[in-house]
Amino acid sequence: MEKMQQVVGRARAAFRSGRSRPLEFRIQQLKALQRMVQEKEKEIMRALKADLNKVCAVRGDEAYIGYEPLGVVLVIGAWNYPFALVMQPLIGAIAAGNAVVVKPSEVSENTAQLVAELLPLYLDKDLYAVVTGGVPETTELLTQRFDHIFYTGNSNVGRIVMAAAAKHLTPVTLELGGKSPCYIDKDCDLAVACRRITWGKYMNCGQTCIAPDYILCDPSIQSKVVENIKATLKEFYGEDVKSSPDYERIVNQRHFKRILGLMEGQKIALGGETDEASRFIAPTILTDVSPESKVMEEEIFGPVLPIVTVMSVEEAIEFINLREKPLALYVFSNNKQLIRRVIAETSSGGMTANDVIMHSVLPDLPFGGVGHSGMGAYHGRFSFETFSHRRSCLIKDFRWDVANRLRYPPGSEELMQLAKLFLLKQCARSRVGQFISALLAAVKAVLAKRKLLMAAISLGNEGLTAGDSPGWLSPEQRERSLEEPAASHP
Ligand code: NAD
Repeated sequence: MEKMQQVVGRARAAFRSGRSRPLEFRIQQLKALQRMVQEKEKEIMRALKADLNKVCAVRGDEAYIGYEPLGVVLVIGAWNYPFALVMQPLIGAIAAGNAVVVKPSEVSENTAQLVAELLPLYLDKDLYAVVTGGVPETTELLTQRFDHIFYTGNSNVGRIVMAAAAKHLTPVTLELGGKSPCYIDKDCDLAVACRRITWGKYMNCGQTCIAPDYILCDPSIQSKVVENIKATLKEFYGEDVKSSPDYERIVNQRHFKRILGLMEGQKIALGGETDEASRFIAPTILTDVSPESKVMEEEIFGPVLPIVTVMSVEEAIEFINLREKPLALYVFSNNKQLIRRVIAETSSGGMTANDVIMHSVLPDLPFGGVGHSGMGAYHGRFSFETFSHRRSCLIKDFRWDVANRLRYPPGSEELMQLAKLFLLKQCARSRVGQFISALLAAVKAVLAKRKLLMAAISLGNEGLTAGDSPGWLSPEQRERSLEEPAASHP
């Protein structure tokens, strides 16, 4: 047998080739699947008979999706937007009818404390609890059984959360991070592009999960990008960024030192000034950055913007696809076709073209990662769905039980054919249509059974019933027995 690794490797290579994506291809493959079922029906039926020894046809009288709460959910927040990152999931979880345990980040201790004080004053104390604390408290909390865990933070802890959840088969939503690329095409309004990038990169001192992490652009526009960002920074923060009330600081010494480490050995085209005491790092741009450098290995999560030059959009796409799927992806271009191409040939949690961050603020769009940038999504109605179980509900009527003849044993090939016709016709019908087709199917079943009995009597084959002998009629007879009642369909 072929090695598992080869099988999976081949599937991944085929997926990367992009051939599973075009609509025509999908339709063609589905048609091939349909043809397979049609051509190999006998073999399939034989295998099903051998495995399960029965065939079943179900039809619904009243079917709907019931959104029910999952139960007790745990919301673990991160420090960079400490209030919003617990409030937004909390709103969705309450809306869906759950009880919630909120664990704000200990790194932003003031907000954590405030949330712990405020929530019991405004909400039901038993249903909505707040637990404060760091790693020991969260570790202990994770030994409890929850019905859903919603975690925001880095991917290493994401793994810990997922492993703890697996012990109880608890589903998780992981809102993680990663390196969000930003491709700038030569054909674009560079001044506007750089103003928008500057805003998204340097707000909250670069500590935003969907901040553009690095820029990819043609070498010929690299210095213009630097100049435009420089001019915008002056507009936003004045001559002295350090004294601007609008420019934030790095959250703690650990992160301050980590970011400084990422700048080591790099060519600083702008900024680079730091002050350890106040954890200040000036808006910084690194140019001609090597893809192999440390700053290109991990999420920066600080006000440092590396520029990696690429010769073409193809190279940019390849660069992006060689790395883990990012949380966000940005592309700036006047060329809509180029934008669509970048969207079609890459993957990311979300994306914005000709701006940054903005896809995350539209309530009609789900917000979340893919691959290493996370799983699941929320915001707007998607928060409600994330914290709900979509329960399939079917309420049957006691009437028309004759239609169930199709699924009750004993079975026969004739009844199977009727069931098949019945199911095919059901697909595109309204409820009234379904009612009529149920009625007709019942009539067909009765007729088919009568035909079989009459044929049995005429052959003197006493005691034979409809379910006894599949294939007892000749194929032509069988076809006619099915076609005749069907001809009366409206
Ligand atoms: P953090 O340090 O606040 O940690 C997040 C939470 O994990 C905290 O509540 C903390 O108590 C808990 N935690 C930490 N270590 C733990 C452990 N060993 N076991 C159990 N729980 C533990 O935040 P962070 O991880 O530094 O956050 C930054 C990361 O989060 C970045 O990667 C950023 O991109 C990502 N992020 C993602 C989103 C998003 O919506 N996708 C939003 C904000 C931040």
